[in-house]
Amino acid sequence: MARRMSRKRRKEAFLIAASEAFERLEEWYDEHPEATFGEVEQEARRRRRELMGKAIEILVNGRDNGVQVEGVRCRQCGAQMDFKDYLPWTVRGLEGDTELERAYYVCPECEGEMFFPPGPQASAARGPLE
Ligand SMILES: [Zn+2]
Repeated sequence: MARRMSRKRRKEAFLIAASEAFERLEEWYDEHPEATFGEVEQEARRRRRELMGKAIEILVNGRDNGVQVEGVRCRQCGAQMDFKDYLPWTVRGLEGDTELERAYYVCPECEGEMFFPPGPQASAARGPLE
C-alpha cells in the first residue's frame, strides 16, 4: 500500500516494483525452459498487468490519499473529526488491478458519522475505466 510520497520516492518505488516483476519473469522462465514464445508472452502480460496496477497505485496513492491537514468538521454536530484510518479498495482497471486507499475521519461525538475527503482518485475510481 503506497502512502503519500515525493515524486522521487514514487519513482524509486516503481523501479523496485519493475525490478521485482522482471525477476519473477526470470524465475518463471527458469522453471519453464520449454515454454513457447507465446507462453512467455502470456506470462509477461500477467506480470505487466501486476506491475501497471502497482504503478497506478503508487502514482495515485502517492500523490493524494485524502489526508487533510486542516481540521475536518462533523456535518451533524460541528465537532472536529478524528483521522481514523485508510480504507482500501481494489479497482479492476484496464492495465491491472490497483489497490487504492483513502483516508477517512470519524466524529468523536456522533456514532457512525464518517467523512471521506474528496480527491482525484475518488473520481478516478468511480467512473468506468474502459
Ligand atoms: Zn458529530
